[in-house]
Amino acid sequence: MSMSIISSTLSHLTKLFLSANCPLCQRSASKVLCSACHQQLLGCRQSAHGNGQPKPIQQRNTLDIFAWGHYQGLLKQALTQLKYGDQAELGLWLGLELGNYWRKHPASHRLQQASVVPIPLHQQRHQQRGYNQAALIAKGVCKATGLHFAEHGLMRTKNTQAMYSLGVEARQTNLHKAFRLGPKPPSPSKPIILIDDIYTTGTTALTAAETLRTEGYRVPAIMAVAQTKYVAPVVDRSKPDHGGQILKPRLIP
Ligand SMILES: [Zn+2]
Repeated sequence: MSMSIISSTLSHLTKLFLSANCPLCQRSASKVLCSACHQQLLGCRQSAHGNGQPKPIQQRNTLDIFAWGHYQGLLKQALTQLKYGDQAELGLWLGLELGNYWRKHPASHRLQQASVVPIPLHQQRHQQRGYNQAALIAKGVCKATGLHFAEHGLMRTKNTQAMYSLGVEARQTNLHKAFRLGPKPPSPSKPIILIDDIYTTGTTALTAAETLRTEGYRVPAIMAVAQTKYVAPVVDRSKPDHGGQILKPRLIP
């Protein structure tokens, strides 16, 4: 067992025995989050007409995108804490919110039979972090919706660079053949909803979707906790030899 696993396990154990503080403001909290942070996070949701109803799904390229919130403010802080601050409990909380929000959306009715597949981390990064944040979110989503959780539907075969530092072309190169079908693939007769923490250019989502589609799966949608201001790149299907060339993303005004 490596030192990082031991220290990560110790840190999880320590948390079990200490009274919990809100991971976002460190004040004592009876639930995962204190009520102030809870309310502030709910304010980061994307909702249609400000009435708490989910916004319509966006369709880009071949994937429907459903994002709970905007990647800013306290939600950005929460996702950073989830990924780099060893605050795993935030993943389930965000997943439950995402799942409950999804249930209110009309599109959820046609995907009631779907399997939920989290975007996987490479084994090495998974061991360093101690968990896959997308899998924690997906678990929460399945708890809220009753959808089938296919935790190991996909696996990551390449330990890719962190994507935030890369441009669109570099992201594509970085992810080339990064995924393959996981050790416990879901039923091929069911559609798949991918889950990720953040949706940025869509390169990761599309690469994962293509991997599953090559194996005969239908992958109609991705759900993410937050969407950044980038929209998915436009794929030029006139260049099939290159698998479609991805053009520059543009910023949402
Ligand atoms: Zn708080």
